[in-house]
Amino acid sequence: GTRVLIVGGGLAGVRTAVELRERGHEGPITLLGAEPHEPYDRPPLSKAVLLGEAEGDEPLVPTADLAAAGVTVLTGRRAVGLRPADREVDTGAGPLPWDRLVLATGADPLPLPGPAGGAPGSGDVHTLRTVEDARALRAVLEARRSLAIIGAGWIGAEVATAARRAGCPVTVLEAGSQPLAGTLPAEVAAPMRAWYAEIGADLRTDARVTGIGPDGVVLADGTAVAAGAVLVGIGARAATAWTAGSGLPLGEDGTVTVDSALRAGLPDIWAAGDCAAHPSARYGRRMAVQHWDDALRAAATVAAGVLGEPVEHDPVPYFWSEQFGRMLQWVGAPGPGDRLLYRGDPADPTRTVLWLDERDVPTAVLTVDRPRDLAQARRAVERRTPVDPDRAADPGVPLKAA
Ligand code: FAD
Repeated sequence: GTRVLIVGGGLAGVRTAVELRERGHEGPITLLGAEPHEPYDRPPLSKAVLLGEAEGDEPLVPTADLAAAGVTVLTGRRAVGLRPADREVDTGAGPLPWDRLVLATGADPLPLPGPAGGAPGSGDVHTLRTVEDARALRAVLEARRSLAIIGAGWIGAEVATAARRAGCPVTVLEAGSQPLAGTLPAEVAAPMRAWYAEIGADLRTDARVTGIGPDGVVLADGTAVAAGAVLVGIGARAATAWTAGSGLPLGEDGTVTVDSALRAGLPDIWAAGDCAAHPSARYGRRMAVQHWDDALRAAATVAAGVLGEPVEHDPVPYFWSEQFGRMLQWVGAPGPGDRLLYRGDPADPTRTVLWLDERDVPTAVLTVDRPRDLAQARRAVERRTPVDPDRAADPGVPLKAA
């Protein structure tokens, strides 16, 4: 039968394997993963695992189920080269053949740029992507060491929350002028500054880090921030460097350039999850979403394509984050001219913010502890149905089409 090789044992990889079997693929399926674990879930790594409430390596799909589905899982083995003409992937332990290849290698945390990258030995510097990373950081929390977090993004906010819960002194250094700079519009992100203060984390914005020394972090203005440990949370880059020289088209950010059905630019190769960027007809641009829900949906798209029934991958982006004791959920992508609509009092501790286009169609929604609003708004965003702004602004009225 047709041999499918999936490179990358994360969410996108394991879900592709499961979907292929469920949709009737009968040939061999091999799932290759560099980590010594079977695929596990990453979101708990910055939440429950840091607090010792979960171990973090619980398999995403029970081992017995993968075996029963006839999926060969090769762990602790890294792809190091791609030879498309020979239809082989090289690994440290020899080549693996394929008829259809799925790239699902995810992303690696970005190091600090330049000499500030923190030379080995210059302090206790962490990033957070794997279960080992999470356990190393957990040890810092258990020892209640002071923690400097570089980047007030999603990871920074979640780790700050856990570290304060564990009783660590926390300083968060953000190069932008507000938390989540570059991710959320200023109006919406600015109030989040207060959330850091609320838990007793010292958030310093416009703080440009120039180096990490043995005693902590050094800023461009010469200030030194003492810290027993440092977490760098400034984003992630697609883990595709191993395909260099293969002719596989990559974007400047390292993502695999796929088409709307997630086909990479070479025959019989697909890519899904954090390592890929797809063209969105919905948003008129290429998108590297790098969130859980997109990896899940992309796996289904790829499985359909591998089986010769290509479908379009153009979902409305969705993600959640648990920070400061709050559940944040986001759906959509606002356009440049869209206007903000607060549902209820913007000062409320729970809140829903909608972005409306010129026809009053919601293009994006952010909710804080309002899961019902999220579910209702998600439908409106997906279906592009206009809402009545006056009614949408009233939190007592369910969100639905005008
Ligand atoms: P990954 O999960 O990264 O899996 C890729 C796998 O491929 C890895 O195991 C890697 O080791 C392996 N690999 C890489 N290179 C090779 C190679 N050359 N050969 C073999 N194997 C290789 N999203 C949300 O929406 N909400 C959240 O709350 C949330 N929390 C998160 C918290 C953390 C700490 C992290 C790191 C991510 C979080 N995410 C969250 C994002 C979400 O987990 C990712 O979008 C998702 O894991 C992407 O799945 P993936 O399969 O594409 O990549």
